[in-house]
Amino acid sequence: MRLRLLVCSVVMGVSAIASAEPKVTVSPPWVRGGDPVLITVTGTNVLPKGSASGEPLRFFASKTGFQAVMAIPLDAKTADKLAIDIDHVKLPVFVRVTALKGAETKVTVDEDLADPSKAEGKRIDRDNYSIIDSATKSHTEPQFTKPFYRPQGQVTSPFGEWRIFNDGYRSQHLGVDLYAREGAKVLAVNAGTVTLVRETLLAGNVVVIAHGAGIATAYFHLDKATVAVGDVVKQGEQVGLAGQTGRTTGPHLHISVRVPGGFVDPLAFFKLKLAPQAKAKAP
Ligand SMILES: [Zn+2]
Repeated sequence: MRLRLLVCSVVMGVSAIASAEPKVTVSPPWVRGGDPVLITVTGTNVLPKGSASGEPLRFFASKTGFQAVMAIPLDAKTADKLAIDIDHVKLPVFVRVTALKGAETKVTVDEDLADPSKAEGKRIDRDNYSIIDSATKSHTEPQFTKPFYRPQGQVTSPFGEWRIFNDGYRSQHLGVDLYAREGAKVLAVNAGTVTLVRETLLAGNVVVIAHGAGIATAYFHLDKATVAVGDVVKQGEQVGLAGQTGRTTGPHLHISVRVPGGFVDPLAFFKLKLAPQAKAKAP
């Protein structure tokens, strides 16, 4: 009798350890290159640490456990498997990837923009650096508590499209273009801090908002910005007016979303069920 009890307690002990292991879920389970994935860890009270294909994950407390967002590399190939490693979880979780096949379109813009001089080329490099630098300044905890929302407007150009300009220059579209009237209000898709307001050569007037958790959104071709660097904005607060500044063929809103690992398809990002826990206000 004593022996049986002993065996029983050992079995229970093992199963208790097994159930204590955190559970990792990834959504969506099937993704393309340039898509974001949402990683949720439940069954632990300790902030998880981990990485996906070598990139560190930035977990935050959410209403459904701990969450982190991660970009699938733009050049990921079909049948690639993204390995997500989390501390205290024995085996990595894999996500299956399909290659992003961006369509090619020819774009004709003004000759002076199609054929930038050497000085303009340097300015373009500085512009790009400042956009990426400001988009990666999103190191804080999440500054948002509500899910992100998709701005209004029909898609006029999808994420990942390859553009071949009249000067032969090829560039991949790392955002989505939405129809917008000139002068229409452009609203922050979520709460955050403005990290860049800049007049650039190709993207025109640009506003970048850092939302925390490594997430940033950028708004291009604005007629004008109505915020300044350092401004804290609420979800739905106006950041500018839509326009057609920079290298563009007409008024529209270009929006880019950056998460740890790179730029992602904004339309896929806006579908993620992000649910950070509201912070208790400091006394
Ligand atoms: Zn665009």
